[in-house]
Amino acid sequence: MGGTKDEARGAGQGATPDGVDVAVVVVGAGAAGIAAGKALGEAGVSCRILEARPRIGGRAHTRTDLGPDPLDMGCAWLHSGDVNPWTAIAEANGFTVDRSPPAWGEQAGGVGFPPNGVADFNAALEAYFDRVGDDEDTADRPATTLFEPGSPWNPLIDAVNTYVSATHADRISVRDLARYADTGVNWRVREGYGALVARHGAGLPIVTDCPVTTIDHGGRTIRVETPHGTVTAAAVIVAVPSSLIARGTPRFVPDLSAKRDAAAGLPLGAADKLFLAIDEPERLPRGHVFGRPDRAATGTYHLKPFGRPLIEAFFAGDLAVELEAGGPDAFLAYAVEELTGLFGGDLARHLRSLVTTAWVRDPFALGAYSAALPGRADDRAILAAPVDDRLFFAGEATSRSDFSTAHGAYRTGRAAAEAAVRTVGRLTR
Ligand SMILES: Cc1cc2nc3c(=O)[nH]c(=O)nc-3n(C[C@H](O)[C@H](O)[C@H](O)COP(=O)(O)OP(=O)(O)OC[C@H]3O[C@@H](n4cnc5c(N)ncnc54)[C@H](O)[C@@H]3O)c2cc1C
Repeated sequence: MGGTKDEARGAGQGATPDGVDVAVVVVGAGAAGIAAGKALGEAGVSCRILEARPRIGGRAHTRTDLGPDPLDMGCAWLHSGDVNPWTAIAEANGFTVDRSPPAWGEQAGGVGFPPNGVADFNAALEAYFDRVGDDEDTADRPATTLFEPGSPWNPLIDAVNTYVSATHADRISVRDLARYADTGVNWRVREGYGALVARHGAGLPIVTDCPVTTIDHGGRTIRVETPHGTVTAAAVIVAVPSSLIARGTPRFVPDLSAKRDAAAGLPLGAADKLFLAIDEPERLPRGHVFGRPDRAATGTYHLKPFGRPLIEAFFAGDLAVELEAGGPDAFLAYAVEELTGLFGGDLARHLRSLVTTAWVRDPFALGAYSAALPGRADDRAILAAPVDDRLFFAGEATSRSDFSTAHGAYRTGRAAAEAAVRTVGRLTR
């Protein structure tokens, strides 16, 4: 569905204050915007969700066109699965939740590590995260300050930081990291997390191919400008990534420089995937391997996820930026070099690249997920704060303790919608 002027302006279904096209415009149909739209619909408040891309879901995106197996380009793990709202939504919609524990702590067959190395590394990693966990009340600083000086595991701990935060420890606020809430339960959706988010959005009044350029909140009604026309609303929920807000897209009139500054403290780092098909899957064990134990620039590889003849390779931080610059061939070459280093040169001819991502280069994401820069953990609250009780902010970067995740995005979207419903309620009384 392409956006048209009529679709963008739409006629609001549900409670609509006088003088506006719809009660609430939601900008962005990612996990946060969809959750907001759903909550507005449940409250009987009219809304229109304007989405820049030709599809919904944002950084939740499952590809089903690359073979028999659905492949998640963005989110894939139901982090904190036991309390994650998407778990119940998955089951209510007939999706299959795979509750097998992840193999992250394992190095299949111990390949590439020195004897006892895997246990040593896991102990060092756990001790590092314990130090992070104790840090909420102390002065903020870069997470590198919690590294054990001289530990041979620091490069790999930094690699894990890049998987968790999409950036390196020297650019991560310890306080932000300490605030992250993790139950330690990680599940997956067999049919794809992106497919689940898109299913939740089915039937909502979403206009795709409709990038919002300007949000004019200077008058009595808010004017939301798009190439397909202007929509007026009593309240707006902005659910786009912090990277875009930092850049000034959409533009706010009057300007909201405090929002831009806060968003700049919450940059989206880099994290990308490469999916490989393997034609003789028996050549590999099932499970997980790091490419190398001794460098931060290393991939993390899921071998035969769900028992499928695939390798899901994940690269993050500076390495992902570099690979994006080199394009799909660079991803493949890096993975082949690391995997043949572990499993032997013969493996190379059995691997075929299916797809790579480039989230930093994606104009409607400009990165993978947010991490607060050292000293900037409280920017999440500044970004999340409503303006005049009618301009609300949602999205993973606005979450105090579930940032960087699809369930964090969901919760911020619901919360913003509940606040918008109260505002609309006051106006329609
Ligand atoms: C490689 C990768 C792996 C990940 N793995 C996990 C994981 O395993 N588990 C997990 O929980 N999370 C994971 N995440 C993070 C998760 O995907 C995101 O945190 C979450 O999807 C963000 O949702 P959101 O609604 O905040 O933002 P988005 O999904 O980015 O949604 C924002 C929407 O706004 C749209 N938009 C942007 N500009 C405009 C505009 N001007 N006008 C209109 N629309 C606009 C965008 O197109 C987008 O659809 C991963 C992300 C990546 C990239």
